[in-house]
Amino acid sequence: MGICAYVRCPRCRQDFVVSPSLLSVEGIKAHCPFCDASFPPEESPRIVGWKKETAGLGVAGALRD
Ligand SMILES: [Zn+2]
Repeated sequence: MGICAYVRCPRCRQDFVVSPSLLSVEGIKAHCPFCDASFPPEESPRIVGWKKETAGLGVAGALRD
């Protein structure tokens, strides 16, 4: 469906695209392509396009900042 989420890196503050299905996996870490940091999505200061409550239900309606 081409849905993606944007995760902000807590280290370098850059936004990068991840798959929402990736974020819904328990214990997974996001990997920043800019500074090579790995961090759990909970540590991101900002995630756009994905919410935990809607994981698995599609992200329609979750594209709010
Ligand atoms: Zn980074």
